[in-house]
Amino acid sequence: MVDFVRGMKAGACAGVASGAISNIAVLVASIPSYYSYGVLVVSSIVGGAFYGIVLGLFFGLIFAAAYDKIPGDISSVKGVMFSVLFWLFFIFIPMIFLSSFTGTIGFSNILIIALLTFSLFGFFAGFFYDMFKPTKTYVQSQIPVRRCSACGRVIPSDSMICPYCGYKFKETVE
Ligand SMILES: [Zn+2]
Repeated sequence: MVDFVRGMKAGACAGVASGAISNIAVLVASIPSYYSYGVLVVSSIVGGAFYGIVLGLFFGLIFAAAYDKIPGDISSVKGVMFSVLFWLFFIFIPMIFLSSFTGTIGFSNILIIALLTFSLFGFFAGFFYDMFKPTKTYVQSQIPVRRCSACGRVIPSDSMICPYCGYKFKETVE
C-alpha cells in the first residue's frame, strides 16, 4: 500500500527546506544591484516556498509510489537518485531540446545549479520521508500474536478462528 500522504508531506517539507537554503545561497552569492535587498529576500523566500510546496507535493506523490523501486539503501539516497531523474526529464532534456531550436548553448550554469538544487531537495525529501514513517500498527505493538498453525500468518493469540484461512483452534494460546 503506497502512502501518498506521507510522500506529499515529505515533498512539501523538502520543498520549503531546500527552497530556503538555495535562496539564501543565491542571495549570498549574488545580490543584483537593481533590486532592493528587502524586496528580493521576501519575494524569493515566499516564491521559493510556494514553488517548493507545489513541486514537493507533485514529487512526493511519485516518490512514494516509486519508493521501493528506487536504488539506494536509505531514504535520503533514494531521494537524491529520484530528484536527479526528475532533473533529467524536467530540466535537462527539455533544455537540450529547446537549445537545439534556438541554437544557443548558454544553459550549462542553469543546468548545474538546477541539479544541485534538485539534489538538495531530494536529500530533504528522503529525510522527511523517514521522519513521517508511520508508527507501528496496532496489531504489531499492542496485541499478543502468534502464527496460525494452518496457514502460517500472524494472528491475535486469542483468536479461536484464523481470520485468514478460517482454521478453527481447539484452544487459545497465551
Ligand atoms: Zn490460518
